[in-house]
Amino acid sequence: MATILESIFLKRSQQKKKTSPLNFKKRLFILTENKLSYYEYDFDRGRRGSKKGSVDTEKITCVETVIPEENPPPERQVQRKGDGVNETEQISIIERFPYPFQVVYDEGLLYVFTPTEELRQRWIHQLKGVIRYNNDLVQKYHPCFWMDGQYLCCAQTAKYAMGCKLARASGGLRSGRSHRNTKKPLPATPTDGQVKMSKPLPPAPIELKKVVALYDYTPLNVKDLPLRKGEEYLILEESNLPWWRAQDKDGRQGYIPSNYITETRDPLEMHEWYSKNMTRSQAEQLLKEESKEGGFIVRDSSKAGKYTVSVFAKSAMEPQGLIRHYVVCQSAQNQYYLAEKHLHDSIPELIMYHQHNAAGLISRLKYPVSSRSKSAPSTAGLGYGSWEIDPKDLTFLKELGNGQFGVVKYGKWRGQYEVAVKMIKEGCMSEDEFIDEAKVMMNLSHEKLVQLYGVSTKERPIFIITEYMANGCLLNFLRETRRRLLPSELLEICKDVCEAMEYLESKQFLHRDLAARNCLVNESGTVKVSDFGLSRYVLDDEYTSSVGSKFPVRWSPPEVLLYSKFSSKSDVWAFGVLIWEVYTLGKMPYERFNNSDTADHVTKGLRLYRPQLASERVYAIMHSCWHEKPDERPAFKILLSNILDLTDEES
Ligand code: ADP
Repeated sequence: MATILESIFLKRSQQKKKTSPLNFKKRLFILTENKLSYYEYDFDRGRRGSKKGSVDTEKITCVETVIPEENPPPERQVQRKGDGVNETEQISIIERFPYPFQVVYDEGLLYVFTPTEELRQRWIHQLKGVIRYNNDLVQKYHPCFWMDGQYLCCAQTAKYAMGCKLARASGGLRSGRSHRNTKKPLPATPTDGQVKMSKPLPPAPIELKKVVALYDYTPLNVKDLPLRKGEEYLILEESNLPWWRAQDKDGRQGYIPSNYITETRDPLEMHEWYSKNMTRSQAEQLLKEESKEGGFIVRDSSKAGKYTVSVFAKSAMEPQGLIRHYVVCQSAQNQYYLAEKHLHDSIPELIMYHQHNAAGLISRLKYPVSSRSKSAPSTAGLGYGSWEIDPKDLTFLKELGNGQFGVVKYGKWRGQYEVAVKMIKEGCMSEDEFIDEAKVMMNLSHEKLVQLYGVSTKERPIFIITEYMANGCLLNFLRETRRRLLPSELLEICKDVCEAMEYLESKQFLHRDLAARNCLVNESGTVKVSDFGLSRYVLDDEYTSSVGSKFPVRWSPPEVLLYSKFSSKSDVWAFGVLIWEVYTLGKMPYERFNNSDTADHVTKGLRLYRPQLASERVYAIMHSCWHEKPDERPAFKILLSNILDLTDEES
C-alpha cells in the first residue's frame, strides 16, 4: 500500500489505566490508505525498526489538534523567538515536538506531537482526507488532553465521553455519500526526504457564528477582548468551555466569557424585558421590589415553548399592588396575542403594541423590569487562562468565617472585584493534588455554582479565590427566623441547588459533600453550591473516614456508609436531605440520634419525616432521593423537572 505521509514524531503512551505512567517516545509514523502505523526508528543507521503499533484508518472517528500542556518540558516546548541559536540549540530545535494532535479511534486515543505547525496541519489534513467517508465520524471532540483519568477541558471521567467542542468542518466530511465503499483513494505522491505527501485537499469554507453581548465586559488580562452590551461579535473558536475566542467589528480578536453573549438567532434575549429562566415567584418578587405601575417581565412559561408576560399595577383597592400573568397565545396562523385578540407577527411587536395600549391588560407595559441589568454573571476565572492569582492583587477587608481548611476572608482583587479567599492552613489539604485539580475545576462554570476564580500557590499558605456571596452560608440563612421565608422561596432555594447539581451531573463531577452548610447565598438571595469535590483533598481522618466524627453521615446513603461507594446517586441522596434542611429551616437531620445511631437507622430503611412546611408533593420529591437502591433514585435532571412542575403551583 502506497505511503501517503511519513514523519518522525513523538508519541504519548495511551495510559489505558488511570495509574499507568505517561511516557513519550520518538516513533516513525507512516500513513497509508488503510493504516496509520508507528515504528521504532534506528537513528544511527537511519532505518525503520520494528513495528510498535497501528490503527486501522477505517476505525478512526476524529483527527484534531490538542491544546498544549500548561508547562511542558523543553522537548515539547515551542522554541521562543529571539533565543540565540548555537550548535546545541540547533540540535534541540530538531528535538522539539511542541505541536500535538489527536487521533481518536474505536479502541483508543493516540496523541502525536509534531515538530512544526506546518507538519501538524499537513498530517491532520491528510488524515481527514483518508477518513472522510468513515461512518462513525464524530462532530465533537475534546480540545485538551486526557490525563490521569479525566479530560482537562471538561473534567469528564469517561474516556469515551462525547466531546465538548465542535470539530472543524472539513472538505467532503459528512457529505451525502457517506458510505465507505464509495470512497476514492487519494493518490500518493512520494517525495524525497522524510516527509512524503499527496496533493492537499482544498480547504473548506467555514461559516462563523454571530453573537451579541448581553453585558459589558472589561478585559481582565491581555488575551481578553472587551465586550459592549448589544454589539455583535464573530465566534472564532467555540466549545463548551467558559471562554471562547471572538472577533469584534473592528477585527480585534481575543477571548470572551461565553456566558456574556447570546446567539443572534434568539432575538428575545436581546430585550431587557426578557428573562429566560425566571419562575413565576421570582417574577413576582422582582415586580414587587420595583413596585412600579406598569412594571413588566416576559419569561418562559412553565409550559414548554410558551411565554408569559407578568405585569404589576396599583389600584385603589390594592395599594400594595397586584400582579397578573398572561400567557402569550398563538393563533392558527402563528400570530401572537395577549388578553384581547390583537394579532402580531412577533413577540417584540406584540410587546411594543402593549407598551402603548393596555388593551385588556391590568396596565399598559410601561417599565421593563430585569434582574440582568443589575449585575453581570461571574466569569470562570479573572480573565482567560488566568488561574494563578498574584497575592499582591488581593486586599483583605474582613473575616467571613472559619472552615475545615482555615480562615475565609472577604476582599477585593485589583481593588475592584469582590472575592472570597480561603487561606489554607498548612497540613489540612493535599495541596499538590488540589492544585492539579483546580485547573479542571476552573472550567466548571454555572450561574448556580460558586465560581472558582483561581488559586495562589507560589507562597504559603496557599489561597483559593472564589466568588463572594454576601449572605453567607445557606444553613445560617435558613436559621435566621426574621427572614420568614415563604414556601415559594423555599422551593426556589431547592431549584437553585438542583440546577447546579444537574450541571455537575452532566459533567460527571461528584460533589461528595452536598449539604446546606456547603451552599452560599448572594446579595440577591440566589443560592449557589460551593466546595464541590473539595472533600477529596482534606487531610483529616475524622472527616474522611465514614466512622469519623466529622464525616457527613447524616447526608450519606447506605452504600456510602457500608462500602464507601460514592456516585452521582449518593449526591442525589444528600440533595434529598438538603431539601429536608430547607423545609425545616435548618434543623439538624436525625437530631435525636448520634452519628452511629443515624447510620443504623438509615441502613435499616428508616427515613426522615415530612417537615411541616413541606407539602406532600415536596415530600415525595425528597423521599424519592432516599431509595435504598441507588439506581432507583432519580437523576438531577428528573428532579429539576419535578421541582419546576411545582414552582408555579406552590406560589
Ligand atoms: P471550608 O471549606 O474551609 O470548610 P467554608 O467554605 O465552610 O470553609 O467557609 C467557612 C465560612 O466562611 C462559611 O460558613 C461562610 O460563612 C464563609 N464563606 C465561605 N466562602 C464564602 C464566600 N464565597 N462568600 C461569602 N462567605 C463565605
